[in-house]
Parts: sequence; structure tokens; C-alpha cells
Amino acid sequence: MKPRIALIAHDKKKDDMITLAGQYRDFLSGCTLTATGTTGSRLINELGLVVDCKHSGPFGGDLQIGAQLVTGDIDCVIFLRDPMTPQPHEPDINALVRACDVHNIACATNVSTAHLVLDGLILTTNKEKQA
Ligand code: PGA
Repeated sequence: MKPRIALIAHDKKKDDMITLAGQYRDFLSGCTLTATGTTGSRLINELGLVVDCKHSGPFGGDLQIGAQLVTGDIDCVIFLRDPMTPQPHEPDINALVRACDVHNIACATNVSTAHLVLDGLILTTNKEKQA
């Protein structure tokens, strides 16, 4: 089955997300992608990825992705959070990260961890293809 990945980036981290997703574009184009609204629009427009866009984060997008995760529809979350800027939807952000911990879903909240998680997923996916 294709890996199902959720991608979310706060405003000051969106350029980092585009750079990261660009580096993994080939792999990501073979995954099922979900994203919050603005992040998803940029991934579509700038990288040509196919993305199921939810609402923007402050309007409930993180909660929509959290609900998908709870029902077993997300395998991994790349959530580039901005730790230096207060967010109006902080409770939603905490709820999403908590849901990842409750359901044991990998959640990368910075670029270094995102590389490790995506590299790991690539290895796992390649092994599954060979099996
Ligand atoms: P956005 O939402 O991709 O719509 O900007 C991200 C967030 O702020 O949680």
C-alpha cells in the first residue's frame, strides 16, 4: 500500500517544507498526501504534487488531519512547527501531536527528523516492493 503522509507547515516554515518536499519529490509523488490548506496549495502549485487539501490550520485543518489519523488513515505526519511564533490554534496543534502519540504515528516536527522519517519510509517501502 502507498504510504499515507500528512504534511503541515506553519507560515515561517513553509519554505522549508517546499525545500524538503522538493528533495523527496519522486518518493512523495508515489505516496497518498494530505495537507492543511495553505501548505497543500503550495505543494500542488510549486511542486506539482497531488495533495488532498484540508482546511487551513487555524480553521480546523489540523483537527481534520487528526481525525484521519485516529481512524487509521495516516501513516506518518511531517509537521514543521514554528516554535517562535504564538499560533491562534495552539490547542489544535497540541491535539494533533497528542493523537500521534496516542496512536503511535511517527510525527516529525523539524526538518532533521523529517529527513530521518522519510528516509526510513523509503527503506521500508523499497523492502516491501522486494518482498
Ligand atoms: P496552513 O495550516 O497550511 O493552512 O497554513 C498550517 C497550520 O498553521 O497549522
